[in-house]
Amino acid sequence: MVIDTKNQHSLPNKTIQSMSRLNNKIMLPLNKIPKQWLNIAPFLPEKPYPCLLPNGMPASPEIMKQIFPTECVKQAMSEDEFIDIPREIREAFALCNRPTPLVRAFRLEKALGLDSDRIKIFYKAEYVSPTGSHKGNTAIAQAYYAKKDKIKGLTTETGAGQWGSALAMAGTMMDLDVKVFQVRASYYDKPGRRVLMNNFGADLVPSPSNQTEVGKVFYKENSNHPGSLGIAISEALELAMKTPDYKYSLGSVLDFVCLHQTVIGLEAKEQMEIAGEYPDVVIGCVGGGSNFSGIAFPFIKDKLLGIKSNTEFIGAEPAACPSITKGKYTWDFGDTAKIAPIAKMFTLGHSFIPPAVHAGGLRYHGAAPILSMLANHDLVSSAMYHQTRAIKAGMLFSRTEGILPAVETCHAIVSAIDKALEAKEEGKKCTILFNFSGHGYFDTHAYKALQENKLVDFEYPNEEIEAALKDLPVVDESKFM
Ligand SMILES: *Cc1c(COP(=O)(O)O)cnc(C)c1O
Repeated sequence: MVIDTKNQHSLPNKTIQSMSRLNNKIMLPLNKIPKQWLNIAPFLPEKPYPCLLPNGMPASPEIMKQIFPTECVKQAMSEDEFIDIPREIREAFALCNRPTPLVRAFRLEKALGLDSDRIKIFYKAEYVSPTGSHKGNTAIAQAYYAKKDKIKGLTTETGAGQWGSALAMAGTMMDLDVKVFQVRASYYDKPGRRVLMNNFGADLVPSPSNQTEVGKVFYKENSNHPGSLGIAISEALELAMKTPDYKYSLGSVLDFVCLHQTVIGLEAKEQMEIAGEYPDVVIGCVGGGSNFSGIAFPFIKDKLLGIKSNTEFIGAEPAACPSITKGKYTWDFGDTAKIAPIAKMFTLGHSFIPPAVHAGGLRYHGAAPILSMLANHDLVSSAMYHQTRAIKAGMLFSRTEGILPAVETCHAIVSAIDKALEAKEEGKKCTILFNFSGHGYFDTHAYKALQENKLVDFEYPNEEIEAALKDLPVVDESKFM
């Protein structure tokens, strides 16, 4: 492991840019699109755990390569601190508006009555990507590496549609077919996302469908079954495994997905330096954990090396699906039908089906294994929020900063607001950085529900978590650790 010295973190040739309402963003030139991803693995307090097969033994790289692009599997096993980003991927990043701006939320600060010299809120604007979220960062990389494997297409699942749109876009860029199983509830709730995916040429199927064995089980019972992310993952995986020249693509959770998202934090770190700042608190919302990992890992590395030991990291979760806050750190399946590999992570149980009243996104039952390990070591904390508070915070954000946030992003915003108000109360100085993971222009149904007072708050009951956690795989770590 290479130990950085403090000196490498100050850039002697860079002048600090003083920020004002007329100078509220730090933009990086195109040649600052990162040339390497940061691999957090060599810095972790423990070696990352392997993924396991249903028999409880580690999945070999050969098996993983049948499912995922070869290079992604290699990246997940790498112990190098930095991993090169190929030129073609950086070109696609340029098309997708990387480097994304770092913005100081002056008007939000004012609305909260903060003293702008003492409490500062910055956000990283991932919404500027053509499909509106951070998901393109890994979609482009996965499509590029899939094409290098000379396959014809990728299957995937999508809940709200952001991931499906990102992969559909990446598929057109890299000349690959993309087949998307979309959770039926959002297939009907979010017709705009559907049009966007179709426009990119993706083949869309509402899930559960009658095109897979897994889907049929649910479809035959109820052809209008609302579906879940867990079921859609099982369907996409099954189809990829039985279709020649197809592989499977996942938009979150996996180590290599979190790796691909580190472009967010690498850029943000450089931008914060230009602003003459280092965050006291780094915040992101957590579904599977990829956008939070992406912004946090470069700063967590500083914490793990003891360069900045006081930075606080907060994963913001919905009360309806609080994987880290209320889940258990243990081995669990990645999907409902138990086809996906088993991972050690914070989980609510693979049979978790999100409550129908939940509009707030972030519906996956588990959290990324690396992020889970960091949370288990108390290096990362989590907080949960009810959807009404979160979406109200999103409305305040749109009224002050002008952009309508994705409902997922609203959870990061409410968390940032809480942190800022807490610092104000305590009379402390505090610099907050959060990831603005995506815009909400396809999420108008959630804002409409807020405007019509129809949002219902729901906290996932402890008894149901206990019940779902009774069905975990039996794993004997001593057999392989
Ligand atoms: C998918 C998505 C998330 C949640 O996924 P993570 O893997 O936890 O980042 C958050 N925000 C937006 C806008 C998304 O599209």
